[in-house]
Amino acid sequence: MNPELEQILSRAQTLYEDVDYKAVAEWKSYAPGRRAIGYLPIYVPRELIHAAGMLPVGIFGGGDRLEIIRGDAYFQSYICHIPRSTVELALSGRLDVLDGMLFPSICDVIRNLSGMWTMLFPGRYVRYVDLPQNYDARVGGEFWRRELTAIREDMARLAGGQITDRNLRNSIRIYNQNRRAIRELYQARSEAPWLYPIAQVYAVLRAGSVLPPEEHTTMVRRYLEMASQESTLPEDRSRVVLTGMFCEQPPLALLITLERAGCWIVDDDLLLGLRWFTGEVPEEGDAIENLAQAYLTQSVPTASCYAPDGQRGRWLVDAVRQNRADGVIFCAPSFCDPALLEQPMLVAALEREHIPHTQFKYSEDTGQFAVIREQAGTFSDSIRLWSEA
Ligand code: SF4
Repeated sequence: MNPELEQILSRAQTLYEDVDYKAVAEWKSYAPGRRAIGYLPIYVPRELIHAAGMLPVGIFGGGDRLEIIRGDAYFQSYICHIPRSTVELALSGRLDVLDGMLFPSICDVIRNLSGMWTMLFPGRYVRYVDLPQNYDARVGGEFWRRELTAIREDMARLAGGQITDRNLRNSIRIYNQNRRAIRELYQARSEAPWLYPIAQVYAVLRAGSVLPPEEHTTMVRRYLEMASQESTLPEDRSRVVLTGMFCEQPPLALLITLERAGCWIVDDDLLLGLRWFTGEVPEEGDAIENLAQAYLTQSVPTASCYAPDGQRGRWLVDAVRQNRADGVIFCAPSFCDPALLEQPMLVAALEREHIPHTQFKYSEDTGQFAVIREQAGTFSDSIRLWSEA
């Protein structure tokens, strides 16, 4: 492996394993007064944090790298895992490096977590980010403009300064560059998945949740260039789209297991908030208006978003066609309401188009993969046989 590629992957892996957020503490230590704001999945307008000179930090639970000692006591058993490990991270002091937290409206679990945060950590900045559910510019658009303005004021106050229009436009430009690089990575992987294994792509992508966006864009671009020069040969595997992983993240070993079972992952919804917009947010004009409009018209389709045309599932069929996928694996966290309630509508859309699919559930700390490997392997073999029939 090219030494630079090795170096990029080693850095990304270190960041992935860092449940103590040492990279955030390090970033803050470079200059006095630096601040960092955490956010839960899926989407928050990171541009507003960045424009205030602060570091946005994605909190994706503790994965399989954290022992839950106190977090379980706060939740009933029939609930997903990410809130437990997030509470554990906070109670163990690992999130003390953060100067505030944003909880976007994705499901009741995260909404309630924002309330728990207020009670557990009085005095710390907490905001529930109420995303629009109505996509009419005069209703949801106006609502979201007001929310964005309020968050902008909060971020400026926390940073102890102002967010000028110029700063905000600059942050939009920087995040456009970042999302563009990630889109290019996804496109390259779709074309030659054997050059961009899921473990590498995921670690590089995940680094974007803790690195400043400028640094992350450089990492993604260097990775793209270095990985494209590897001499790995293609193998005969099934091309699959993974869906359902937009919030609680699966263990890396689970993703690797899917590849070892004979699948090439050609599209997925992992860490979806890092590439939330399907196109560019305009960089000139009214920045708040541009962010609001982008949310209404360019958000990626996912379970937590309103589908104004009522055609839930069309996007998944499109993702299969655009990526020349052979099938879909529904891979959702146990007890995840948004993913699992949408699944029957997505299954119906796939079945109308005769697209093969299978499904299983996971938890971020799942440790047994034998059954998943057998299931994914059987699925992969069977769709290859069907497509050759
Ligand atoms: S995994 Fe699903 S249910 Fe749990 S917090 Fe995330 S979106 Fe909500």
